[in-house]
Amino acid sequence: MVKKLLALAAALLCFGPSAGLIGVGVLMNPAATASCLPGSLIVGPIPDSLTATTKDGTTITLNKVQLTHAATIITVGGQTAGIGRSGVVVALMAGLTETSLRMLANTGSYPESANYPNDGNGSDHDSLGLFQMRPASSWGTVAELMDPNYQARAFYGGQTGPNYPSPRGLLDIPGWQQMDPGEAAQAVEVSAYPDRYQNYQPVAEAILTTLTHPAASGSSGSSDGNTAPLVVPETRRIVFPLPEGTWVRTDPFGWRTDPINGERAFHSGSDFAAPDGTPIYAIADGVVVRADYSDSGGGVIVIEHTVQGQRVASYYIHMWQTGIHVAVGETVSAGQHIGDVGSSGHSTGPHLHVEIHPGGANEPAVDADAWLTEHGAERIQAGDTAPAACTLAGGSH
Ligand SMILES: [Zn+2]
Repeated sequence: MVKKLLALAAALLCFGPSAGLIGVGVLMNPAATASCLPGSLIVGPIPDSLTATTKDGTTITLNKVQLTHAATIITVGGQTAGIGRSGVVVALMAGLTETSLRMLANTGSYPESANYPNDGNGSDHDSLGLFQMRPASSWGTVAELMDPNYQARAFYGGQTGPNYPSPRGLLDIPGWQQMDPGEAAQAVEVSAYPDRYQNYQPVAEAILTTLTHPAASGSSGSSDGNTAPLVVPETRRIVFPLPEGTWVRTDPFGWRTDPINGERAFHSGSDFAAPDGTPIYAIADGVVVRADYSDSGGGVIVIEHTVQGQRVASYYIHMWQTGIHVAVGETVSAGQHIGDVGSSGHSTGPHLHVEIHPGGANEPAVDADAWLTEHGAERIQAGDTAPAACTLAGGSH
């Protein structure tokens, strides 16, 4: 069913005839994305709840919202060189200890923090978010610290972290790999209570094992034509897919004369010209259902989202093979750097072709440019988002 849906969807792309040649064989070919897999930190479907026991024998149950934050921590860890599974365990232990993995506002110190998506209100000093980071200690602005993705990047730190070199993230703690994970968490949090972190190690390990368990094959569909539910949490925001100031509108959604073969054809996306290598951002939180490359069709990424309770798919096309930074099954955050602008496939120059399909990947496209405007897509600056795993590993940009 997945293959059938995607073949149908391919027919809706930029240019029917060549897009139709996108080999569905590459869809599930691990070689197509293997170079971009950040170790074993690919998040599969997020369960509705998870129950685990702390070191001191307390049973705790985490809900889907908490597990979604855990997924962000795992995904960002996978994108950060030098973190690996052991670093992610430290971060999960810290998040569990500080907030039970909840994004906490702090209206006592910052009334405006309530304007950001949050899971409740905290009151410890002027601490904010999953890791209880304090603007007064220079961890970031209120807006930055109310973003789970930013918190995770700040926690991991290192030279690509947003606070480098201070306050220190995990990568900035000398010898953190040799420390007990609880001590390492305490070193980042500079907490007065180091022992509390160790208590959550078994819970952190259970979360990591559960969330990175490989998705059942065909989790976004099944071979008998019945689409199995793909778990996609509600997005927390919508962003424009390219950094401010890097792009210009070229071909809009609608009927047009094909610039290559001169035929009249329906253009189901919105084209934005931008320099080769410009980062492409996921327009919303979601799950990657397709990430592949073929010479004829070029690079294609498809992400499924839940926006105001509705399934929506976004398509990103024309990346080069080296410009695809996500893999099928991966959970992504709005604004995450998922690829780079290229000019592969049916293209006359570097641009992003973006499509929006309300209802899911196999439903018809609407005008993506208009949809983004209607949904208040945030414009973001280059450098605001997490570096992609492949960029770090390959250094190609
Ligand atoms: Zn196009």
